[in-house]
Amino acid sequence: MPVIGQGTWCLESATRATAIKALRRGLDLGLTHIDTAEMYGDGRAEELTAEAITGRRDQVFLVSKVLPQNASRTGTLAACEKSLKRLKTDRLDCYLLHWRGRHPLPDTIAAFEELMRAGKILSWGVSNFDVSDLEEALAIAGPGRIACNQVLYHLKERAIEHAVIPWCADHKVPVVAYSPYGQGDFPKENSDGGRVLAQVGAARKATARQVALAYLVRHPGVFAIPKAASAEHVAENAGAGDLRLNPAEIRDIDQAFPAGRPGRGLPML
Ligand code: NAP
Repeated sequence: MPVIGQGTWCLESATRATAIKALRRGLDLGLTHIDTAEMYGDGRAEELTAEAITGRRDQVFLVSKVLPQNASRTGTLAACEKSLKRLKTDRLDCYLLHWRGRHPLPDTIAAFEELMRAGKILSWGVSNFDVSDLEEALAIAGPGRIACNQVLYHLKERAIEHAVIPWCADHKVPVVAYSPYGQGDFPKENSDGGRVLAQVGAARKATARQVALAYLVRHPGVFAIPKAASAEHVAENAGAGDLRLNPAEIRDIDQAFPAGRPGRGLPML
């Protein structure tokens, strides 16, 4: 599984041709983990993804998400069917609960397990789950069932490092970092942090964004899914996949972007 994948939130804001070109360029470069959701563009992102992966479905690790308001037992089954239809596929590689809502977690998990038995999803996971939510999911599902926890993680928001990443590491639950560029809040070149990223990048022939992605995936079991509607951006992001930062570089970035105090709760967008 490549550590860098492709997000699709707001992909529909680009023209159809541009969006599809970007996703395909990503697949060509090995960014085969594609993250989408019924929420994104009211299903439009799933439709664009379907076009982009036509003829290449077997190459892709395809992830979609059920909205909390649809995540009852029957609602989850119905939402999955709609996603499969928009994605023009017979299965998802992973299906996530987008965030917790009013429907009881045991009902959503029962639906996920039913979808797995039917071969419509190959695994299921969660998103925006703090440690207490993860504990609850683990108690319901048992070990080895939660395929991932997708959470907010970028240089200026390192809250998950305090408790979520350690819990996930202990329980062998991969972490998927969403909004790894802070969704438009990437450190400016002339900021203190921006200068550190540039310095590390210059020594490694990498860009500041590649350094940032490499930093986020420095822990084993952590993945990142930047969204890029531009093929050039996708190519830059793909270039981060092979970059391994050394301890001194990690220390410099740690200092430039402090993790903040523990116990602040789980931030989400
Ligand atoms: P993001 O990936 O942090 O940032 C996306 C922005 O960065 C876009 O404006 C994109 O521009 C730009 N960008 C990407 N690569 C770039 C590059 N190499 N150079 C310059 N700019 C670049 O934000 P995000 O879309 O919020 O997060 C990524 C994905 O995570 C989402 O698309 C979605 O799949 C997932 N997500 C999940 C949740 C959840 O609750 N589970 C929440 C948020 C996001 P262009 O598009 O113009 O290339």
